[in-house]
Amino acid sequence: MRTGRLAFVAFVALLAALPAFAPQFWVTLGNYIGLYSIVALGLVLLTGVAGQTSFGQAAFVGLGAYTSAYLTTRYGTSPWLTLAIGLAFTGTVALGLGFITLRMKGHYLPLATIAWGISLYYLFGNLEMLGGHTGMTGIPALSVAGIELRNERWYYYLIWAIALAALWATNNLLDSRPGRAIRALRGGLEMAQAFGVNGARLKIVVFVYAALLACVSGWLYAHLQRFVNPSPFGINQGIEYLFMAVVGGAGSVWGAVIGATLITLLKQWLQDGGPLMTLLRDGLELVLPQGVSPSGNFEIIVFGILMVVLLQRAREGLWPWFARFLPRPQPAPVPSATPLAARPRGQDHATLLDVRNARKQFGGLVAVNDLSFEVRPGEILGLIGPNGAGKSTTFNLISGGLALTSGDVAFLGASIRHTPPYEIAARGMARTFQHVKLIPQMSVLDNVALGAYLRGRTGVVRAALKLDREEEARVRAEAARAIERCGLAAHTFDAAGSLALGQQRIVEIARALCADPVLLLLDEPAAGLRYLEKQELAVLLRSLKAEGMTILLVEHDMDFVMGLTDRLVVMDFGEKLAEGQPADIQRNPRVREAYLGGA
Ligand code: ADP
Ligand code: MG
Repeated sequence: MRTGRLAFVAFVALLAALPAFAPQFWVTLGNYIGLYSIVALGLVLLTGVAGQTSFGQAAFVGLGAYTSAYLTTRYGTSPWLTLAIGLAFTGTVALGLGFITLRMKGHYLPLATIAWGISLYYLFGNLEMLGGHTGMTGIPALSVAGIELRNERWYYYLIWAIALAALWATNNLLDSRPGRAIRALRGGLEMAQAFGVNGARLKIVVFVYAALLACVSGWLYAHLQRFVNPSPFGINQGIEYLFMAVVGGAGSVWGAVIGATLITLLKQWLQDGGPLMTLLRDGLELVLPQGVSPSGNFEIIVFGILMVVLLQRAREGLWPWFARFLPRPQPAPVPSATPLAARPRGQDHATLLDVRNARKQFGGLVAVNDLSFEVRPGEILGLIGPNGAGKSTTFNLISGGLALTSGDVAFLGASIRHTPPYEIAARGMARTFQHVKLIPQMSVLDNVALGAYLRGRTGVVRAALKLDREEEARVRAEAARAIERCGLAAHTFDAAGSLALGQQRIVEIARALCADPVLLLLDEPAAGLRYLEKQELAVLLRSLKAEGMTILLVEHDMDFVMGLTDRLVVMDFGEKLAEGQPADIQRNPRVREAYLGGA
């Protein structure tokens, strides 16, 4: 940790000293790197962490720049006031665009961002009041404490102070309650929603956050140049911003600075030419077909080739390579803290979960055929059946992952038929996934802490300002306790993806426990476990039951459920084949036939 901090102090010292000894030209580059870093930082969060690709970020930079240019030149508004207005305006536009585009899946989202990126660019160029393609001049310089920042060297300090503040805030955000939820978005919404994250809403929040950073950069740009025209806010620049975030690497906020620096210097170098460039250009002229001259867009071609090579060689960007030279922070043991409030166990309800004629059809296939059963408080109910019987589908009907075709499911006395999964989670249901859904690069501790999402309150602003430390300490202590209970204390700080698959299943159970559920839903938790691990799991489940936890256990492994469950429901071909005590079920000829026939 100490050497890491030293590296940071050295970086800031170098940054601060640069204008003192470097020629003007370097200060100008430094200014641009700072401006680009701020935009790329938003993309690290939006694209790198949350997995939402945007090519349109330059348009938000334009909104920030043009809002201030227009208001200061036309009405003489103070630039600091126009910053606030620009942020409000950009935030509103991003909210609207995010609401429409972030619902899109796959390649439609990036395409949509290209579409509105281009639209806004043409809007800037075609609005008479914004000066058309010639742009606007006479934008006033910024004043800080009465001093006009006309000098680029002074402006440099303002840009980098804001860039460092943005880095600090974003870094805080990543390491917090909303940050864990944002990281969870990348693997699809299902897992995040199962722990109470309103994924659609959170995506928009991240989108607006990134747009606001872009707006700040645009505002700084307008008052640095003191003149704006549409060209820096087009789709080319939008693509370059995305490149910066991807090349730098999304593993860390520093990826934004690395990407912005690399691409700015690279472009400068390619444009400057020099003997090497002349050689390359002549070479290209030989290989390119007649009539295609590389002279015009020469640097773009080389730039493109270099990007492709880089992305081929370093998928995760350059940050991991840089990080190798930095000391790895030694994780400190998680200190204990006041436990989070726990919820009542639901013992006063006669039935905790009531599945009534639940039906699910996939086209012509009836995966669950009018199934009814109930789960009583404090019991371990096993839902078993051969492969393809419809167990996981039933499981998803209960947790809200799939919508019922007909029938109903009531949890704690209230129907959850039309309740979204994140609200079902809030009522006290936690689940694991048959196909493990952890965030592989994140530590076991952080993965498990995501389970406590609904037990915290911290929002994006509090997290970014690091005002969440007390709650965070309690959440982490809770997560550490759940991990220890599940016997994985030795792996607390390991990346979840580095564990064996069986252990990852146990991490999922720890995460579910961290949610303090009334009803714990487990989908084939024993799959992939060795004999001894299965026994340890059985001990854990029994001790949870002893504390009043109710468990619905979907399992394929008959032996595992026999000694563990209070009652069994057997499914075959979507229907209930039998229900009763494990010993009776074991003797039931129809069950034996289904299992032997199925196997
Ligand atoms: P189990 O968990 O008992 O092995 P599932 O609930 O996964 O069984 O599957 C039950 C049946 O439903 C299977 O025939 C499976 O192929 C089908 N099925 C499950 N999910 C889907 C889906 N999303 N679309 C179409 N068919 C599905
Ligand atoms: Mg299944």
